[in-house]
Amino acid sequence: MNDGLGMERSYYVATAAPFAPAPRLEGEVNADVVVIGGGYTGLHAALNAAERGFSVALLEAGRIGWGASGRNGGQIIPGWRKGASELIARYGKHEARKLFELALEARTLTINRIAQHAIPCDLHVNGHLTLAAKRADTRWMAEEAATLADVMDYPHARVLSAEEARAKVAAPDFHGGLLDSCGGHLHPLNYALGLAGAARAAGVRLYENARVTKVKTIAGVVAHTKGGAVRARYGVLACDALLEGLEPRIAGRIMPVANYLVATEPLAAPDSVIADQLAVSDSRFVVNYFRIGADGRLIFGGGERYTPSPPADIETFVRKHLLGIFPQLEPARIAYAWGGLVSITMTRMPHIGRLGDLFFAHGYSGQGVLLPALVGKVLTEAMSGTAERFDVLASLAPPEFPGGAALRSPLHVLGMLWYALRDRL
Ligand SMILES: Cc1cc2nc3c(=O)[nH]c(=O)nc-3n(C[C@H](O)[C@H](O)[C@H](O)COP(=O)(O)OP(=O)(O)OC[C@H]3O[C@@H](n4cnc5c(N)ncnc54)[C@H](O)[C@@H]3O)c2cc1C
Repeated sequence: MNDGLGMERSYYVATAAPFAPAPRLEGEVNADVVVIGGGYTGLHAALNAAERGFSVALLEAGRIGWGASGRNGGQIIPGWRKGASELIARYGKHEARKLFELALEARTLTINRIAQHAIPCDLHVNGHLTLAAKRADTRWMAEEAATLADVMDYPHARVLSAEEARAKVAAPDFHGGLLDSCGGHLHPLNYALGLAGAARAAGVRLYENARVTKVKTIAGVVAHTKGGAVRARYGVLACDALLEGLEPRIAGRIMPVANYLVATEPLAAPDSVIADQLAVSDSRFVVNYFRIGADGRLIFGGGERYTPSPPADIETFVRKHLLGIFPQLEPARIAYAWGGLVSITMTRMPHIGRLGDLFFAHGYSGQGVLLPALVGKVLTEAMSGTAERFDVLASLAPPEFPGGAALRSPLHVLGMLWYALRDRL
């Protein structure tokens, strides 16, 4: 499913830290925990479990970090995909506060992991700015900043006027923005590879090119690949948008949506395009997101497709969104273009739970750089017998997409296209 999205032509692969490939799985292996999927969710789960004393084997279908984790925008956005006001409306003040605190813990855990293992992933935490695409957006932004301060005790978000926003980002068409000073960005693939290195050092047995073709959940978990099998007490299913038919009982709760990025050649004056090393996105339903990479390139994501086939030319597809925001970059050459699959849920809250001894977590809905650090920890707590925080996360379970896994696409696509059309109008 990920093939044809140009990962090998991504800026992240071109600048990846060295990582010794892991072997294929040959024959039968026993472990306390088998993790399926080598992205942030699987790697954090594996690392936490190994630190708790479990023996862990991780099976990755392709290469570690080549799913969404190694392709994304690298934007560190504190919180959930739903803002504080939406959380309160849905869950009430008390639960919303609890959820927000968990999301903040995810941020702390992520930053601490990077420091603990000295992961070279160009981390910057100077802030994340959401630009207001419509004048009306500044109203909800003001309300959101007030709710964050008053209800969540989070004084780090403030509204910028159009002029202040333009001083940060040289994009003419925005009406202001919401600046969260705890946001930031990182090199996503190097973050994943760093986690994998840490997991390996903690004793996790990593396997690549080890696609799981069948999972059995009777009396423990058995994960079968073409070349062998892992028998374990517990399993963690961490395949996100690439789950496909592996576990039909949960597949209908998430939907893969393709999203595309480009990186320009290094810009002559990158700070004049985005100041202060901020991570930036806009308030559109089909969101544009951008930041300056370590060597002064603009890394820009924009444009989604709800059909499985990628655009004929990713560069041309994304460039039109880029120039819509930064017309002055017309002369800038695009050096890299690639895409990835985001898994979204109906509520845009993740789907976390268990099927017997098989835990699963997916559907971060475009906000999965920070949350997996928390999820990996909480799944390990549950395996160790303390399920209180796991139950909180599991209570977020989104409903199935109408039509389930088979029909979710056509129906949801119609809905998404409607919102995308509203963006344009
Ligand atoms: C283009 C794009 C931009 C994004 N931008 C941002 C952003 O700026 N900020 C943000 O917070 N989030 C962003 N996200 C979301 C974020 O990247 C994801 O939520 C997060 O990486 C999910 O991590 P994961 O480990 O759950 O899944 P993945 O990283 O996708 O890992 C799943 C792994 O499971 C493996 N797998 C699948 N099936 C099997 C099988 N049968 N057997 C073995 N292994 C299997 C896959 O090969 C893959 O490596 C973006 C996502 C995309 C695609």
